[in-house]
Amino acid sequence: MIEIHNVSKWYGSFQVLADCTTSVNKGEVVVVCGPSGSGKSTLIKTVNALEPFQKGEILVDGVSVNDPKTNLPRLRSRVGMVFQHFELFPHLSVTENLTLAQTKVLGRSTDEAKVRGLKMLDRVGLMAHKDKFPGQLSGGQQQRVAIARALSMDPIVMLFDEPTSALDPEMVGEVLDVMVQLANEGMTMMCVTHEMGFARKVSHRVIFMDQGRILEDCAKDDFFGQPEARTPRAKEFLSKIL
Ligand code: ATP
Ligand code: MG
Repeated sequence: MIEIHNVSKWYGSFQVLADCTTSVNKGEVVVVCGPSGSGKSTLIKTVNALEPFQKGEILVDGVSVNDPKTNLPRLRSRVGMVFQHFELFPHLSVTENLTLAQTKVLGRSTDEAKVRGLKMLDRVGLMAHKDKFPGQLSGGQQQRVAIARALSMDPIVMLFDEPTSALDPEMVGEVLDVMVQLANEGMTMMCVTHEMGFARKVSHRVIFMDQGRILEDCAKDDFFGQPEARTPRAKEFLSKIL
């Protein structure tokens, strides 16, 4: 579903991604972790071409992200992305947030978009809030709307970049619950997260990054179950978070 081949990226002389190679198969949930500044956000953003890169290749469902001929709006519409800061449009109601991209990018009628959007809103348990504005919702609720909005586009894969790290602790669970449900339904997911409970519960694989490199890319059970077999950097990271 996602193939990342030898991707490198530099900001001037600073190398932010160094020869990263990995893949995410259909139905797989892959967690990306690592210290701050290790390149996790940059890597995940290369997948939907939000971050250009100088070397390597990324294919999403066989389509090259870095081929100038690729229709990027179409590719992005199939790759759902949820960021740390719920980027809802503050001046639009929840329903309008859910329908905008469907009508603009996918060309759906307003009615069709509404049906799809509200179905996804129901799925994240927020139907009662459909006419509110983002500012009237809690952070956790806004993040669930952001997930529903991404799902409304019928994505083939969902990317998450620390979706719970800006939330008050009591709201983390409700967002993780939605993500667990998605994972259990077989959604292909690539998630940058420090929520190791989530990683343990639903991920299939864990990628550990440090200084722009993928140092570990292994089955979840190996990552958490055999810390002695990990690289020293991953071991150190694990010792702090477990
Ligand atoms: P965090 O856990 O803090 O979110 P991260 O692993 O997501 O960190 P990135 O945001 O991918 O890390 O950043 C990787 C490195 O690239 C950092 O050292 C950062 O300072 C640097 N960086 C990011 N964006 C730019 C930019 N526009 N120009 C120069 N350096 C940048
Ligand atoms: Mg980041």
